[in-house]
Amino acid sequence: MQYDVIVIGSGPGGYVAAIRCAQLGLKTAIVEKYNTLGGTCLNVGCIPSKALLDSSEHYHNAAHTFTTHGIKLDNLGIDFGQMIKRKQEVVDANTSGITYLMKKNKIDVHTGVGSFKDKNTINVKKADGTDTEITGTNVIIATGSKPSALPFLKIDKKRIITSTEALTLTEVPKHLVLIGGGVIGLELGSVYARLGAKVSVIEYMDSIIPTMDKALGRELQKVLKKLGMEFYLGHKVTGATVKGKEVTVTFDNPKGEKQELKGDYCLVAVGRVAYTDNLGLDKIGITVEERGRKITVNDHLETSVKGVYAIGDVIKGAMLAHKAEDEGTLVAEIIAGQKPHIDYNLIPGVVYTWPEVAAVGQTEEQLKAAGVKYKVGSFPFKASGRARASGDLDGFVKVLADATTDEILGVHMIGPRAADMIAEAVVAMEYRASAEDISRMSHAHPTYTEAMREACLAATDNRAIHI
Ligand SMILES: Cc1cc2nc3c(=O)[nH]c(=O)nc-3n(C[C@H](O)[C@H](O)[C@H](O)COP(=O)(O)OP(=O)(O)OC[C@H]3O[C@@H](n4cnc5c(N)ncnc54)[C@H](O)[C@@H]3O)c2cc1C
Repeated sequence: MQYDVIVIGSGPGGYVAAIRCAQLGLKTAIVEKYNTLGGTCLNVGCIPSKALLDSSEHYHNAAHTFTTHGIKLDNLGIDFGQMIKRKQEVVDANTSGITYLMKKNKIDVHTGVGSFKDKNTINVKKADGTDTEITGTNVIIATGSKPSALPFLKIDKKRIITSTEALTLTEVPKHLVLIGGGVIGLELGSVYARLGAKVSVIEYMDSIIPTMDKALGRELQKVLKKLGMEFYLGHKVTGATVKGKEVTVTFDNPKGEKQELKGDYCLVAVGRVAYTDNLGLDKIGITVEERGRKITVNDHLETSVKGVYAIGDVIKGAMLAHKAEDEGTLVAEIIAGQKPHIDYNLIPGVVYTWPEVAAVGQTEEQLKAAGVKYKVGSFPFKASGRARASGDLDGFVKVLADATTDEILGVHMIGPRAADMIAEAVVAMEYRASAEDISRMSHAHPTYTEAMREACLAATDNRAIHI
C-alpha cells in the first residue's frame, strides 16, 4: 500500500488535509485510532459542546425569558438523558458525514494506532493487535491534543473530570467546581449553570478568557454572574479530593490564605496539551518541545524531517478547529507544489457562551505593547434595534483602527450571534479595509451586524448614529 500522502489523525486538520490532497490528485490514506472519524472536534469537542450549549440555552430561555415574550409554559422540566442522547445523535451524524467524504474522495481509511517505522513507513496497529504497514512519500501528523492535567490533582474521570466526561454526565451537577476560566471551561460551565447547577470558577489569572481583549473578559464575567456563576479570580488551586459523591477543592486566595469549595463534580479545564504518544517520533529523530509537547515546524509546516509535516493542535498556535483546517489545506497545497499562505493574525477566536464572544486581530493590550497608535470605536447592543427586539442587550462591538490610516487592526465583540458576525471583520481585515470603508457599506436593518457598522462609525471621527 503505497501512497503519495499518509495523514495520521482524522480531526479537522487531518480530514481536511486528506480531502484537499485527494482533490489535488494525490493518492491519500488517513490513519485514525478510533472507530469514528472527526477527532476531538467532532467527537468530544466543538460539536458535542455546541449541541449541549444549544439545548441548555433553549431550556434557560424557556425558564427565564419566555414569559417576557408572553409565552407561558407549565411543568417545564429537563430530560437530561434525552439531551445527552440528542448530543450523541448530532455527533454521529457529523462523524458519519466524514466517513462519507472519505469514500467520496477515494481516501483509504486505516483504523488503528499509526506509528513511524521510518520516515516513509507507518505501522498501523489495529484494536485486535494485528499490524499493517503502509508507505507514503509524504506524511502529515495531525494527532491533535488531549486535556492538560495539574500534576498534583488526579483526574478520576468520575467526580474529577475533564471536558470529555463533562459531555457525557448522567446527571446535572448540583455544584460544579470549575478549575480554569478559559473557553472550554466557561462554555461547559454555562451549559450546567443554565440547567440549574451552581457553578464556581477558580482561575489563576486575574481575568477570565485572559488571552482575549480585557474588555471582553470583564463583560463576559458580568453576564455569567447574572447567570449565577461565581468567580474566584487570582486564586491558585492546590488540590482536590473525592469522598463518596463529594469533591473538595482546595485553593489559595491572592493573599495566600487557604480556602476550599465542596461540590459534587470538579471540572478541570486548564488547557490542552499536544498528543504524540505512541507515534514513534524518536524513530525518525523528531523531538517535541518540553512545554506543551508541541512538534516544531517551519513556515511550510514541515518538521525537521523532510516530507514529514505537522498541523493543528499538535503544533504551535491557537488550538482551534478552523486553524487546523486551514493548515491541512496549506500543507496539501504545498505538497502539490502550490504556494499557499495563512495569515495567523486573522484567525478568529470564539467563545460560545450566550452572549457569544468573538475576536480577530490585535487586542488593545497588544497594540499598546507594540507602540501602535490606534483609535477605538465601540457600540453597545443595548442601542441596537434588533437586540432590543430579541432581548439580547448585553455586550458591545469594539473596533480598533490605525490612528493614521484608519485600517482596522482588531475587532472584539461580545453579543448575540457574535460567532457569526466576526466573519465580516475577518473579510474586512483580509482586504485591509478601513473603519470608514465598513461604515459606508449597507448593513441590513434590523440586524445585529449594524452594531459592527456603528462601531466603525464610532472609530471614524466618533460618528455613530444611534448613541
Ligand atoms: C470541549 C471542546 C470544545 C471545543 N470547541 C471548539 C470550538 O467551538 N471551535 C474550535 O475552533 N475549536 C474548538 N475546540 C478545539 C478543537 O476541537 C481542536 O482545536 C481541533 O479538534 C484540533 O484539530 P486537530 O485535527 O489538530 O486534532 P484532533 O481533532 O484532536 O484530532 C486528532 C485525531 O488524531 C487521532 N490520533 C492521535 N494519535 C494517533 C495515532 N498515533 N494514530 C492514529 N490516530 C491518532 C486522535 O484519535 C484524533 O482523532 C474544542 C475542544 C474541546 C475539547
